[in-house]
Amino acid sequence: MTAPVDQASRLDIVERYRARTPRSAELFERATRVLPGGSTRTTVFTEPYPPYVAWGAGKTVTDVDGNAYIDFLGNYTSLIVGHAHPDIVAAVEARIRLGSAFAAPTELEIGLAEEISRRLPSIERVRFTNSGTEATMFALRLARAQTGRDVIAQFAGAYHGTHDMAMTGTPGVPDALGELVVDLPFNDMAGVERALAGREGEVAAIIVEPIQGVAGMIPATPGFLRELREYTSRHGMLLVFDEVIAFRVGPGGAQGMFGVSPDLTTLGKIIGGGYPVGAFGGRAELMDRIDARRPGALVHGGTFNGNPITMTAGLAVLRLMTGDEFDRLASLGARLRDGLAEGLAAAGLDARVTGIASLFHVHLGRAADSASIAIGRSGAGDRAALAAVAAAKARAHRFHLSLLVAGYLTAPRGMGALMTPMSEADVDGFVAAALEAAGDALES
Ligand code: PMP
Repeated sequence: MTAPVDQASRLDIVERYRARTPRSAELFERATRVLPGGSTRTTVFTEPYPPYVAWGAGKTVTDVDGNAYIDFLGNYTSLIVGHAHPDIVAAVEARIRLGSAFAAPTELEIGLAEEISRRLPSIERVRFTNSGTEATMFALRLARAQTGRDVIAQFAGAYHGTHDMAMTGTPGVPDALGELVVDLPFNDMAGVERALAGREGEVAAIIVEPIQGVAGMIPATPGFLRELREYTSRHGMLLVFDEVIAFRVGPGGAQGMFGVSPDLTTLGKIIGGGYPVGAFGGRAELMDRIDARRPGALVHGGTFNGNPITMTAGLAVLRLMTGDEFDRLASLGARLRDGLAEGLAAAGLDARVTGIASLFHVHLGRAADSASIAIGRSGAGDRAALAAVAAAKARAHRFHLSLLVAGYLTAPRGMGALMTPMSEADVDGFVAAALEAAGDALES
């Protein structure tokens, strides 16, 4: 599986990838006629085209050309027990025969809500959505309704989904909205205070990923989160933890790990057991602004909210994810990050590895700003910055393609996550392939 990357392949990794994936190439060509850029999701496109998946089982995904990949991405961190886990398949199969979705609640949504509330004591009440995007959109709207303030503060390079407040500065989002969003420096409390000085009374909420995901898998320091907690309380702002990714770091999510309690939390990814999901929750007094029995309640519709398949799969996955399983994943993650960091240093390669628990990101070239090569708000201004971003993108692309050819799936930007079917041998195999790929990407 970990085919060595020889000298010739360094020259033509794109050709090697093409040679292995003719059927994907055909499908992509067909897709470009009906889907813009051949794609329906910005984050899964990769040059020259992505591998089209036929099926997944456990830690492995197989593409339409029959190539198997060990999946170190897990649908961007949302699969934590692997593909088609037998318990989840059994639960979903049983449920699917009972009807798909109804204009009425089911008992299932109560069960998943109770389980989430049990794991995250800051969540007394929760609402389900169909994506993390909807979760942050509603959490921020709720924060504005609660405080009567309009400004949202978030961290530079953060990703909170694709609704307008989360994508200011990008085409199609009114400039006027940009005036309501303030960018803050991450892990820098003095910088936060400076950025908001004089405007504290306008800010409804600070939204923060306790582990910045798209920006390069950078954990907050516990001290920083504690300072944010104190600062937001002092100024009447709400503190929102976006744990769409970060919840997978432990049984109590990042808030449990760091010991800091937010006012509102947004969730997604793993809580749907592989199916479309999002959720936002917090203290009863806050969340009950959505209580339809109250006059002037916030409207939170959604044809597929709390859909029975997602609720069933979500509950099944949380039952599987015991404290021991989180611990095992975290130690595999440490093995991966330590192995890579040691190998990169031994080879004298200009790269570093970030992450925590089951999450990692390989940054190639210290000068590279991983945040700006990710999708979303670029902020890149001058030509030198743009050139640096282009070079970093090219390195990340070669790294990604080399790993694909070696039989490993990661995010095109160098990010990945572990799933419970993986073993130490899988991690060691990945480390060896990633070191080869990094050497290739940095030399070319
Ligand atoms: N918040 C964070 C921290 C995320 O990483 C993501 C997705 N990667 C989102 C929100 C949006 O979630 P979704 O893609 O389900 O809309």
